Amino acid sequence: MQPVKYARAATLDEAVAMLSENGRDAYVLAGGTDLIVTARERTHNVDLFVDVKHIPEVMSISFDDAGLTIGAAVPCYKLYNDERIVADYPAIVDSASLIGGTAIQGRASFGGNLCNSGPAADSIPTQIVLQGSALIAGPNGRREVAVEDFCTGPGSNVLERGELLVAIRFPAPQPNSGAAFERFIPRNEMDIAVVNAACSLQIDGGTVSNARISIGAVAATPLYVPAAGDALDGNPLSDETIAAAAAAAREAATPIDDMRGSIKQRKHLVAVLTERVIRTAAGRV
Ligand SMILES: Cc1cc2nc3c(=O)[nH]c(=O)nc-3n(C[C@H](O)[C@H](O)[C@H](O)COP(=O)(O)OP(=O)(O)OC[C@H]3O[C@@H](n4cnc5c(N)ncnc54)[C@H](O)[C@@H]3O)c2cc1C
Repeated sequence: MQPVKYARAATLDEAVAMLSENGRDAYVLAGGTDLIVTARERTHNVDLFVDVKHIPEVMSISFDDAGLTIGAAVPCYKLYNDERIVADYPAIVDSASLIGGTAIQGRASFGGNLCNSGPAADSIPTQIVLQGSALIAGPNGRREVAVEDFCTGPGSNVLERGELLVAIRFPAPQPNSGAAFERFIPRNEMDIAVVNAACSLQIDGGTVSNARISIGAVAATPLYVPAAGDALDGNPLSDETIAAAAAAAREAATPIDDMRGSIKQRKHLVAVLTERVIRTAAGRV
C-alpha cells in the first residue's frame, strides 16, 4: 500500500476545492472497494483520498414526481433494502444484490461503480436502460450527463479535474414497464462478468415501446444498443422480435479474447443474456 493522505469533505464545495487543489493524484473515496485495491496495488499514484461519505446529497436516496435520485456513495445494501426501489426499480436490485458479496455490498456504491468505469461493471447497464443521468459538481458549477455517455474507455470517463459525481437520477417508471439485469460468471459470486446485459421496456395493449438494451464486458465501455430496442419497439413481443433484438445486441458487441472468455463465447452469451433480460423485463411489466 502506498502512503495516502485522507481528507473528509463535509460539503460539495469542500470536496470540489480539495480535488481541484490537489491535482490528478487526489481521488474521491466512496466505498473504497475499487480505490483501496488500486492504491494497494499501486496501479495509479494515489496521494489523497477525499472522503465524500459525510456529504448529505451524496449519501441520500430520494423520490419525487420526476423519479428517483441515488446519492453517488449510497452503498448497494441500502438500495436493495429500500421498499420503493424494490417495488419500482427491480433492475437496480438485480445489480446491487450481485456486486461482490454481502461485505462488499455494505460499502460499494453505484456511483463508485460508474466512476470506476470498468467495461464489465455490473450496475452500468442497469443505469443505462433506466435512463440514468449523472449529476456532476465541479469548479465550473453543476452539469448533467446521460449515463450512456459517461464512460469514455476502460477506467476513463467524462469527469474533468476537480469534478465529482453527486448523484444519479432515474425517471419515474412508466405504467406497464419492466426492467431486468443479468450477468454470466463462471461461478455464483465474487467474479467479474464475462458478459452482462440489461433491458427495460413498456408493453401497452400487447405492443412494446421504449425498449432499451445495454450490454457489458464486450467493448471498451458498457454499451447502449439502440438497434436492439428498435427490434422490439412497435411490435408484439414474440420469439422472432426477441431473436432480432438479441441478434442486434450480438452484432454491436466487439469483445476481446481473455482468460475469462473467448470472442465467440462472449458473442454467444450476449444473445443469450439479451433474450433472458427481455423475457424477465416483460414478465415484470
Ligand atoms: C471482492 C470484490 C468483489 C467485487 N465484485 C464486483 C462485482 O461483482 N461487480 C462489479 O461491478 N464490481 C465488483 N467489484 C468492484 C467494486 O466493488 C465496484 O465497482 C463498486 O461499485 C465500487 O464502488 P465504491 O463505492 O467502492 O467505489 P470506490 O472504490 O470508492 O471508487 C471507485 C472509483 O471511482 C471514483 N469515485 C468514486 N465515487 C466517486 C464520485 N462520487 N465522484 C467521482 N469519482 C468517484 C474513485 O475515486 C475511484 O477511482 C468488486 C470488488 C471487490 C474488492
